[in-house]
Amino acid sequence: MSELKIYNTLARDKQTFSPIEPGKVRLYVCGMTVYDYCHIGHARVLVVFDMVQRWLRASGYDVTYVRNITDIDDKIIKRALENGESIGQLTDRFIAAMNEDAGALGVQRPDHEPRATRYVPQMLELIGKLEKNGLAYKASDGDVNYSVRDFPGYGKLSGKSLDDLRAGERVDVNTGKRDPLDFVLWKAAKEGEPAEAKWDSPWGCGRPGWHIECSAMSSDLLGDHFDIHGGGQDLQFPHHENEIAQSEGAHQHTFVNYWMHNGFVRIDNEKMSKSLGNFFTIRDVLQKYDAEVLRFFILRAHYRSPLNYSDAHLDDARQALTRLYTALKDVPPEAGGLVADEAHAQRFAEALNDDFNTPVAISVLFELANEVNRSRSPQQARQLKALAGILGLLQRAPADYLKGGVPASGGLDEAGIEALIAARKAAKQGRDFAEADRIRAQLTDAGIILEDKPGGLTEWRRA
Ligand SMILES: [Zn+2]
Repeated sequence: MSELKIYNTLARDKQTFSPIEPGKVRLYVCGMTVYDYCHIGHARVLVVFDMVQRWLRASGYDVTYVRNITDIDDKIIKRALENGESIGQLTDRFIAAMNEDAGALGVQRPDHEPRATRYVPQMLELIGKLEKNGLAYKASDGDVNYSVRDFPGYGKLSGKSLDDLRAGERVDVNTGKRDPLDFVLWKAAKEGEPAEAKWDSPWGCGRPGWHIECSAMSSDLLGDHFDIHGGGQDLQFPHHENEIAQSEGAHQHTFVNYWMHNGFVRIDNEKMSKSLGNFFTIRDVLQKYDAEVLRFFILRAHYRSPLNYSDAHLDDARQALTRLYTALKDVPPEAGGLVADEAHAQRFAEALNDDFNTPVAISVLFELANEVNRSRSPQQARQLKALAGILGLLQRAPADYLKGGVPASGGLDEAGIEALIAARKAAKQGRDFAEADRIRAQLTDAGIILEDKPGGLTEWRRA
């Protein structure tokens, strides 16, 4: 069997993967900041690293997968105040929504999903170490900052010198930073901030900066040196550069061996942004498309390539997935028996071992589906289902997909309806009545009538 090669951002090269501890992989991925619904950029991170951990496990590794949850930051504080709810209510609600969206996309739960607010003591300890090592200082505005010029390796992930990086920074005159690239480790509390957003520290009352949470949580759950760190390409600088500066600055040795970054999502060839009006949440997309179609669409592109979202591409993905399910519908895989054809399995593995080349792996599935259509062999159908399962695809009964997968409205199954009703209830509890109305309208469009009963219960029937 071929060896796994991973494109390592730090080396700017594909490298043979060699774990720190034989047979084990420790993987950390930067997760969501939970103040709103996940968008399709989030869907890509969720699905890509779900595929990565599935392939590592399928290759026989004992994987510990950590994906953190940022449940304290400026946007969260602001949104909770706007909504008139507590930070805990807001973040609990959006963590539940995130898990629901991830579940719909066939994303397996990571082994650990640490929340930043539960790791403040570990963060304070790390900041203390940095101060002791001469890498942190308390500024005139009360914040504790990281001093980048005192860390010799700063810029190694982005491959840029301090001067290059500085040229891209806006100089903010209102902070106590010694260098425009210095970043905050501990933010001094400000007037009017809720008690939930404040912790005592040796540097005064305040809250952690964003970057420090990942250094503290990864170290606590995976150790000071681990195998793979992943995230979206937008996190490469400054977030991941800062994580390296913190962790290596505190522990004085290598932090992570392989850095993986997935590419951007674009919408109709434009940057996705709220101001351009082309911003889609996962929920928006799932109103029109089956969740497995979205997963398939994401995996059909290589994870490092830009992914261009458009209705035409999603329609195309739906048709392609329909072809695969149709092969399984016409030749149901029988239980038991050995895999008939090693050649396909081997090419599938070679593709994934080549820096998780899912487009090639999926092309092997299509070849196999063509074979199934020709041979009518239940063994080959079984192999198609087994290989696709490694990517989290083709695991439903073909009839279920084919019923729901063709034009969207009315294609909701019972679980989908229940999930939407739960999401509507959560939206109402969070006083997001626009979202609650939107979900009701979506269900009405799909021919589902809701009846709200006393005690917060909702019953439904088909029109
Ligand atoms: Zn992070």
